[in-house]
Amino acid sequence: MAEIPALWSFPHGITAVDTDYVRPRLDASHLVVRDGHAAFVDTGTSHSVPGLLRALAAQDLDPADVDYVFLTHVHLDHAGGAGELMRHLPNAKVLVHPRGAAHMVDPDKLIAGTKAVYGEAEFQRLYGEIPPIPAERVIEAPEGLMVELGISELLLIHTPGHALHHYSIVDPASDSIFTGDTFGISYRVFDTAKGPFIFPATTPVHFDPEQAHASLERIMEFEPAAVFLTHYSRVADLERLAADMHACLDEFVRIAGSLADAGEARLEKMKNKLRAYLTERVREHGCTLDQKTVDTWLDMDVELNAKGLSVWLDRRKAN
Ligand SMILES: [Zn+2]
Repeated sequence: MAEIPALWSFPHGITAVDTDYVRPRLDASHLVVRDGHAAFVDTGTSHSVPGLLRALAAQDLDPADVDYVFLTHVHLDHAGGAGELMRHLPNAKVLVHPRGAAHMVDPDKLIAGTKAVYGEAEFQRLYGEIPPIPAERVIEAPEGLMVELGISELLLIHTPGHALHHYSIVDPASDSIFTGDTFGISYRVFDTAKGPFIFPATTPVHFDPEQAHASLERIMEFEPAAVFLTHYSRVADLERLAADMHACLDEFVRIAGSLADAGEARLEKMKNKLRAYLTERVREHGCTLDQKTVDTWLDMDVELNAKGLSVWLDRRKAN
């Protein structure tokens, strides 16, 4: 695999900026520049902000040139840095789905929810301080909103499944869509001669398989040449990847369903089955990395996916 730089440039003014979340090449913010106007798509965490500002400077842009900070959804690996970033961007507005907007203005609930998943010490290490964003700088972004960036027009579409407050950004100029976590996770470290390896992010607490399938179909209806994932950046070959995503979602749901009555050991068993399934698939894909490296890259998502599937099982049972 070719070494991916921390600032990874693509045509049409798009740069993947590594946010250095957990480890390099795990989480990207995308800087989009059109006619001297700039926007960030997702921000990483507060710790990522110096790198985002350096990415601007590297293109001779001023923080005042940033018009928008798009938050695909308000999970903290995507939106945790928005409050700190906004302190440095005098002219920018934050665009967030109506269901997530309140969390950016008053992040206390979000912080508490994330601490419940990660624990206090890990929270501080991963996210640090999360300042609120003044309400007048937050734009609620509903389905169908068109946003002008220079002469480009960007279309926001609601894509729930991973999270209810998730939108994706259709960018006709680059024939691509910024999909946050809706189109799954594809770490470049798993690229082989067959291309990218992809799997869904079924993170707590909104994961919904029907919505996830529908949002994938919605994205594919635009027939984009590529999608930009937060984890990690541009992938093409979308017909195959969409099919892989649908199949993998079905298998995750099957695994979860088979453990619906597994009692206290459910989460552990689910993690083991998800890890085994993803490991088998990544090997079939031709990945020759040593097992320790594969485990390192899969472990956090196995943990989050098992928790999200477990929350979904409980919600399904309650309904
Ligand atoms: Zn994410």
